Amino acid sequence: MNEDTTQNLPFPVNPVLPQTFDANKVIQFQCRKGIACWNACCSNIDISLTPYDILRLKLRFEISSGAFLQQYTLPYEMEQGSIAGVKLRPIANGSACQFMTPQGCSVYEDRPTACRYYPLALLSLRRQDEAADSTSYALVEEPHCLGHREERSITVADYRKEQGLDDYDELARGWRQLILKKKSSGPSIGKPSKRSLELFFMVCYDLDRFSEFVASAGFRQLYDLPAQELKDILCDDIALMQFGFRFLRQVLFGEETIALSKEAADQRRLQRMVKNQRLETEAAARRAMEQDEMHDDSDD
Ligand code: SF4
Ligand code: SF4
Repeated sequence: MNEDTTQNLPFPVNPVLPQTFDANKVIQFQCRKGIACWNACCSNIDISLTPYDILRLKLRFEISSGAFLQQYTLPYEMEQGSIAGVKLRPIANGSACQFMTPQGCSVYEDRPTACRYYPLALLSLRRQDEAADSTSYALVEEPHCLGHREERSITVADYRKEQGLDDYDELARGWRQLILKKKSSGPSIGKPSKRSLELFFMVCYDLDRFSEFVASAGFRQLYDLPAQELKDILCDDIALMQFGFRFLRQVLFGEETIALSKEAADQRRLQRMVKNQRLETEAAARRAMEQDEMHDDSDD
């Protein structure tokens, strides 16, 4: 899309064509100021935000992540009772984006990933038996969008470059991997606790609150993070966000890459010991009952 052009978003109808393709595919599309459908796409929004989208926008507005979430977003459940996502909140009593102006997108340089991708849909998949996820694309063709009738041909790879998506995708990779892993792991990981779902929301979307959490005495009591690493994380939002994804892999999937403090490790060892003892006691009691029942049967 041209620089002063507005983009947009998947609408409630499902306009995604079934064909998927890779980045070499050539599409015919151009969005430009002056086109008859100008702003049509931003008038009826359904835009999910990545953690990096939120980071860029809250920095643009020079407000905290909490204030940004409150003013500009709505939470939603990605799966029932599971991890949450965040969408752009439209204007009050309407469906248009709060950032839409007659001239186009007022946050163009920091517009979200979904706006940059339009009219492409990014499809990240991970099958249960595969370690890595795979990426493909689909074309979203909606009747109101006249950009498909423009004469420009461009590969998906070049379109992504034009829209600045390499950085955006790279910085959202850790978040997408968490979601894919959660979705593909199914019951083997079990249902996340309420606490871990709250942590997911805070780390991914409310980065300033996560920063306070990492800086707190409670965090330092639990985790043994080298002082320099802690300092680096706390003075760089992107480093903090990436650390957050690592932290969530530990919380949600038990990938222990952040060392526990000695006290926390001792406490965990103790809890495991108590749990193992309890399991052994219960197993012994079960065995004794079974033997007892066998004796009763043979007495009969
Ligand atoms: S952020 Fe900008 S491009 Fe995206 S929907 Fe809003 S006005 Fe349109
Ligand atoms: S061409 Fe499509 S993306 Fe561009 S303003 Fe029109 S509806 Fe929006």
